[in-house]
Amino acid sequence: MVEQSESESRKLLSRLQAVMAEAAAGQERLDRITHLIADSMGTEVCSIYLLRDADTLELCATQGLAAEAVHVTRMRIGEGLVGRVARQARPINTPNAPAERGFRYMPETGEEAYSSFLGVPIQRLGERLGVLVVQSKEARKFSGDEVYALEVVAMVIAEMTELGAFIGEGAAMSARHQQQVLLRGSVAQEGAAMGHVWLHEPRVVVTKPVSDDPETEAQRLRDAIAQLRLDVDELLTRAPTADAEQREVLEAYRMFARSRGWMRRMEEDIQRGLSAEAAVEKEQSTARARMETLPDAYLRERLHDLDDLSNRLLRLLTGQGTDTGAELPPDPILVARNIGPAELLDYGRRLKGVVLEEGSVGSHAAIVARALAIPLVIHAKRITTEALNGDPILVDGDEGIVHLRPEETVAQAFRDKLAMQAEAQERYASIRDKPAESLCGTVVSLQMNAGLMADLPSLPSSGAEGVGLFRTELQFLTRNKVPRRGELAALYARVIDAAQGKRVVFRTLDIGSDKVLPYMKPTEEPNPALGWRAIRVGLDKPGVMRMQLQALIRAANGGPLSVMFPFIAQLEEFTAARDHLMREMEREATLGHTLPEKLEIGAMLETPSLAFAPRQFFEMADFISIGGNDLKQFFFAADRENERVRKRYDTLNVSFLTFLEQIVHRCSDTGTPLSFCGEDAGRPLEAICFAAMGLRTLSMRPASIGPVKSILRRVDLREARSVINEARAEGAQSVRPAVMEWLRRQ
Ligand code: PEP
Ligand code: MG
Repeated sequence: MVEQSESESRKLLSRLQAVMAEAAAGQERLDRITHLIADSMGTEVCSIYLLRDADTLELCATQGLAAEAVHVTRMRIGEGLVGRVARQARPINTPNAPAERGFRYMPETGEEAYSSFLGVPIQRLGERLGVLVVQSKEARKFSGDEVYALEVVAMVIAEMTELGAFIGEGAAMSARHQQQVLLRGSVAQEGAAMGHVWLHEPRVVVTKPVSDDPETEAQRLRDAIAQLRLDVDELLTRAPTADAEQREVLEAYRMFARSRGWMRRMEEDIQRGLSAEAAVEKEQSTARARMETLPDAYLRERLHDLDDLSNRLLRLLTGQGTDTGAELPPDPILVARNIGPAELLDYGRRLKGVVLEEGSVGSHAAIVARALAIPLVIHAKRITTEALNGDPILVDGDEGIVHLRPEETVAQAFRDKLAMQAEAQERYASIRDKPAESLCGTVVSLQMNAGLMADLPSLPSSGAEGVGLFRTELQFLTRNKVPRRGELAALYARVIDAAQGKRVVFRTLDIGSDKVLPYMKPTEEPNPALGWRAIRVGLDKPGVMRMQLQALIRAANGGPLSVMFPFIAQLEEFTAARDHLMREMEREATLGHTLPEKLEIGAMLETPSLAFAPRQFFEMADFISIGGNDLKQFFFAADRENERVRKRYDTLNVSFLTFLEQIVHRCSDTGTPLSFCGEDAGRPLEAICFAAMGLRTLSMRPASIGPVKSILRRVDLREARSVINEARAEGAQSVRPAVMEWLRRQ
């Protein structure tokens, strides 16, 4: 029985291949296919429905239903039996279609006469493309082998759709990967970019889905699997023994690579007429469809692993590797499911933008993108399946929107936006060397945040007066072992050198929470943001921090040095950290190194508790910098990485501004210099309000300095202050509307 159905489906597939090889326009091909399937399966009807847009199916070809219904009959996903097949991504097989739940009678098709119905999804790698249906008058249920044969055919149709086989004169459909697609994700780094897609891992295209030589195909599969197993074993021997997570993934790979079930299913597919790569892809599709529906996160992860493994196998079979010979376009926008910080750094500033299917606001990739000031949109679902290398793409990092293959009107509007921004940049350049002095004569010092050597060239060009925050963790995050003291000292020295006498505030290692070092043993914590992080790690395990402090002292080479400790929550932590630094100073002196001529030791105020610290803290700190990103999340108890709650609380909320005002007062009482270095400092409206509340130093991304300076120079901060006070007196939740209205009136 199986023997017979195998050869049946093989016959069907080779006839299908013959049709595909003939020169014909897209519609004609689709028509011939429906004819051929109906004929081979002995049914009166065969129809192909393809997705017109994300939720509409359209009858695109039929044998047996009314010809006038083609390109007229449409249904939504989930509507009628056909719509249900698309939604469930599973076949429906019934001897009595009109009696089925959800059956929708479509008079224009003349389908009332047909009783049995078999519909299978046309999908590629978990992405729905349409539905393939056969119907007959005779009330019968189709056999398992028939269902299988139709699924295999559907898969071949999916591949052909992908390759654009149905486009052309009297087009059945506009080609996939040619339509405009708008994807909504989340903002991880603001900014706008226009360019062309560069796939981090180009997808493999199966150009030969059918084969009539199963023996050769089976051998190709066996050879590729053998190679795959060797590769995985090799990866395992190279993986660091300490990295439990990585090893777990690789062990899962090894298990899958040796799975008999997986191998057997693929071999069966080959016996039924698929090529080796099509068999791999069919299994991968099934796994992806399952992935969408699994509630268990662990199992979903394992299916992800299988997906990765399938990709490797496909690359082995087709010879399409990461090196496709394609060249990085001049304006590359990187598209990937996810990417590590080191890989992202490798691309560096060549990238105009990054779009990820996964990722998180606080991921290492996001930190690097922020450091490189590259617009980054995350959670852009389906981007890796929709995008092809070289596709035009617009990234709106301010809104978290991505336009893939945009229509001309959209592209034009985007170009206008970019031109306006460029114009504004020119205006900013003209005030680059002027102070950020408001109309009332208040001068605000604008500094920049940095984290890479590559950031330093922005210091003169942005007009920043210094580096208000140098995040030192990137050098630690992007390596696979702790950097050496000599390496760090050399890097810090280059940073100081590049700053040409301007002040650089080095923040000591801020890791833990979301920033986990690849070589650090991960600790399971229920609330990592409230956990063992930053200075807590530094004080409990001071080895790395002390090494870093030594590197900083040496880098200063007798010049001034500013060191800032992150995440100080109480006076005692500051004194302990400070003591470490003083001890290192003594040690370095004994070793004969020149000490910095001037040493400033500051603290980051990132937890509300520190604002209420004893006066002694404010007296002891040489300066204080408000880490608004963290302070805000703790003030409102709203996770800065959680999209759901992140935007719920406005920075210009009256309570938060009042809290900042109190910090300003405490610092002015003791004459302690105060700055604000969270992301909000770089937003013009926020910057005005901070300055109005008394902050005199703001540190931000280099690209924000121009816009912030430009607006500060045009406002009277005393007026801004009265607008804020009025809104506060009136009981406003946020002063934003009032301040915006006041600005509009200017
Ligand atoms: C902050 O918390 O505001 C800050 C500047 O530090 P990071 O964003 O690196 O936590
Ligand atoms: Mg912080």
